[in-house]
Amino acid sequence: MEIHGSQYKRRSAFIVAILTLTIVVYIFRLIDWQIVNGKKYFEIANRNNIFTVKTEPLRGEILDSEGEPFAQNIIEYNLVIDRFAINKNEENKIIESLVKTFKENKEDFIDNLPIILDEKSKQYVFMEEKEKEIQKLKGKDMLNLNNYASAKDCIDRICSRFNYYEEKDLSLRRDVASVKYGMLEKGYYQAMNTSYTFARGISNNLLSVICEKYQDVAGVRISLSSKRDLLNSNVIPHAIGFTGKMSKEQYETTFKGKEDYTIEDVVGKSGLEASMENYLKGKRGEKKIEISKEGKLLNAFETVDPEPGKTIFLTINSRLQKVANASLEKYVKMARGSAGDCKAAGVVAIDPRNGAILVLSTYPNYDAKRYLEDKDYYSEISKDKAVPIFSRALNGVFPPGSTFKPLDALAALNEGCVNEKDTVTCHRIYYYPGANFTNKCLGNHGAVPLRSAMARSCNVYFSEIGRRVGIENLNKYCKLFGLGVKTGIELPESVGVIAGPDHSKKIGKIWDKRVTIKAAIGQSDNLFTPLQLATYTATIANGGHRYKSHIVKKITDYKREKIILENNAQIVAETEVLPENIRIVKDAMRAVATSGTAAMFSRYRVPIAAKTGTAQCTGSDHTLFICFAPYENPEIAIAVVIEHGAKGFASKGVAKDILDAYFAGK
Ligand SMILES: [Zn+2]
Repeated sequence: MEIHGSQYKRRSAFIVAILTLTIVVYIFRLIDWQIVNGKKYFEIANRNNIFTVKTEPLRGEILDSEGEPFAQNIIEYNLVIDRFAINKNEENKIIESLVKTFKENKEDFIDNLPIILDEKSKQYVFMEEKEKEIQKLKGKDMLNLNNYASAKDCIDRICSRFNYYEEKDLSLRRDVASVKYGMLEKGYYQAMNTSYTFARGISNNLLSVICEKYQDVAGVRISLSSKRDLLNSNVIPHAIGFTGKMSKEQYETTFKGKEDYTIEDVVGKSGLEASMENYLKGKRGEKKIEISKEGKLLNAFETVDPEPGKTIFLTINSRLQKVANASLEKYVKMARGSAGDCKAAGVVAIDPRNGAILVLSTYPNYDAKRYLEDKDYYSEISKDKAVPIFSRALNGVFPPGSTFKPLDALAALNEGCVNEKDTVTCHRIYYYPGANFTNKCLGNHGAVPLRSAMARSCNVYFSEIGRRVGIENLNKYCKLFGLGVKTGIELPESVGVIAGPDHSKKIGKIWDKRVTIKAAIGQSDNLFTPLQLATYTATIANGGHRYKSHIVKKITDYKREKIILENNAQIVAETEVLPENIRIVKDAMRAVATSGTAAMFSRYRVPIAAKTGTAQCTGSDHTLFICFAPYENPEIAIAVVIEHGAKGFASKGVAKDILDAYFAGK
């Protein structure tokens, strides 16, 4: 048995080797000119017909902080027809044969004709829901038929224009007409050096069939192209984004006239794929192709090498990001126990030493690769009322609730309106002189100084110091700490709203200064993103230097050898809050975690400082939590928002999961 087994293995290895060799030989004849390095043939090239064609660069890749890939390239085999090489009298026959070969092998060729053959009636009919495509087909740039033309009229027009006379096999007639229409649409007939991509992403099986069958057919070749492949596509899809064929509008507004772009190009459509397009694209090269008078490919040589795009390393650590994703899901589902409307959440973690974003997570999340490739999944995600493709972390805006109180304290201390020891007396209700509304406190705290007011989140204390410091100062410190302003991230982010006279004016209202006491405890019009709340927390943690929040760590050349750009700590605002005042606020936030509303962290292995928040809204309250750790030398600042999460355990729980993972093994 043993002997038999090894003999069998040897034989099958031999067969595999033969097969591989055969394919290699065939491919060598058919393969893209890119592989044929023909500089030495340059002299003889002058004797025959020479065409210049553009060559595509590889798109740059996107990786996490450790080099784990998010967006990479994979090589794809395509079948291409070259107008300058194909025998014009044989073109229809060749297309017919290609269509048959693809059908026999059950593989798709590019087919955009909005007409099908109805199997029952044996009639051509227009496809449903393709009005735009049908209009275009009949239009004067294409078939130039009147509006009443039938599907059969369209096919007949294409076939007669291109002298194609198949009448019996109606399905074949339609398919060949579709290819011809594709050629017409792509401008194949507008010049002599054009090519038409007949099929993309051919399987290895079909590749060997094609290599064997068409190796001596001039004008048919296999080309290599790179295709974007999303990996770990459910880890941080909102930030990575995706690529796609540019739309006409995109071409007109952004790319028209730009070197290296044609309307046929694949470009970034969202996320970093779009915002980093300039780095990712690369530069086209040029090739000269030599064709004999009989249409045979003689030589091909690169005259300008294509220059691949740049590689982008993110500040995101996939391991931590995955922990955050799982934790948001876990706690949203748990919160539903008491708040049935809890469906969404966002969390952001930032390194306060430099502004690098460590976590940028949104729930519900989605898988970008499946979204692009699986129609059922696409429609499921598109119909989801919680809108998974919307990034809560970047674009969701939420009232900050009591997580705003440290800002109120910083402003009041720094403007000399209160000191560490001053007390305010709480009897549950705060009256603004002359106002017909009040701020209520959940406790009856008596005379409280800042530290215990923060620990217990006393609304009366923070209303009073807010009134003293005034709305202009609150607005000023918001902007310095990154609330209601852009944080600098290399992605589209919402700017939020700072409650105050400027915003009121914008919406056609007059600010009532008595409402300052609402704004001071995070109510009124205040709305911020989780990213802004994390930036603000990081700015407190590091002593008052606001760094540009960034997700791009560095950009290198494609091979990852040469650094082109590195994002180090970049200060965008010095808050100029006195170190002593920052110390007082940090100390008060420490008290929140040791003896206050986040006392579940009192014995946590790493000392943390924090602030809890609850924001009233239609439906269950939002629950918020901000924190940084270690207290003495902070390395991580976190902001969690659970939409309609109601209870504080959910937002605190997410922060704890991230802290556990971050400090594991440290
Ligand atoms: Zn109170």
